[in-house]
Amino acid sequence: MNSNRPFYLCSREFKANPSVVYLDEVQVGSKEILVIAGPCAVESEEQIFQAALAVKEAGAQVLRGGLFKPRTSPYSFQGLGAEGLQLLIEAAKEHGLLTVTEVMDLDHLDILAERIDILQVGSRNMQNYPLLRALGKLKKPVLLKRGLSATVEEFLAAAEYIMVEGNDQVILCERGIRTFQNHFRFTPDISSIPLIHHLSHLPIILDPSHCCGKREWVAPIALAAIAAGADGLMIEVHPEPENALSDGPQSLYPQQFITLMEQVKNVASAVGRGLYGASAI
Ligand code: PEP
Ligand code: MN
Repeated sequence: MNSNRPFYLCSREFKANPSVVYLDEVQVGSKEILVIAGPCAVESEEQIFQAALAVKEAGAQVLRGGLFKPRTSPYSFQGLGAEGLQLLIEAAKEHGLLTVTEVMDLDHLDILAERIDILQVGSRNMQNYPLLRALGKLKKPVLLKRGLSATVEEFLAAAEYIMVEGNDQVILCERGIRTFQNHFRFTPDISSIPLIHHLSHLPIILDPSHCCGKREWVAPIALAAIAAGADGLMIEVHPEPENALSDGPQSLYPQQFITLMEQVKNVASAVGRGLYGASAI
């Protein structure tokens, strides 16, 4: 292994064909687009059950819901922590959804690893190398989000930390980067999608919610990502965004999510992809 190369196992030189990450009956990186949706954070039993129902009805496969929240301010809602775990699991189970939640800390692995389907590494932890290595030892799907100011090479080198420990079930997630376009919370880097597909065999999805920061931009950016070849989307949806404890302004209303899923289906079909549960034709 050439130590001048920041990544190899995730590269196309190591593996020419795209990798597929298997999540029960659904897959990421195959013809079908994976859709993860749900609130920023699990807030209450009522909220997460309503969210699970809404995202399932619209056609999502995975329920998101943060338990340990990496908030910019320590005074903001920090998540329900371990107390919310059972709510997330039960809401997902009731509607036949898989689960994803963020692991912020090595200690969280003990609580989450056995019970959550996909473990998320948030942007702020993209270069937390002990955490990445620990996830590499687990052999369980990891959703790795791009750091707020990370280059694509740094992003892939972070994925390499997971893979070098033996876990190749890595799903990359673009979530926007800092630029001088300051109307959005972060600039959605649509260019990273074809670039990552060129450099790496790993699947790449887009989180339009955290880039846009406002719900009005979420649909066009989500559709642009699918047109650019993204393997999936992760979208914040809240039953009552105006009452959300975090990221309400960027969360879609359930009805908006239903409309978006119809549009995603059409754009996916135009680029030879499909949505689970919907014909690509
Ligand atoms: C999230 O998806 O809950 C999140 C906090 O996103 P990011 O790490 O991309 O800011
Ligand atoms: Mn959020």
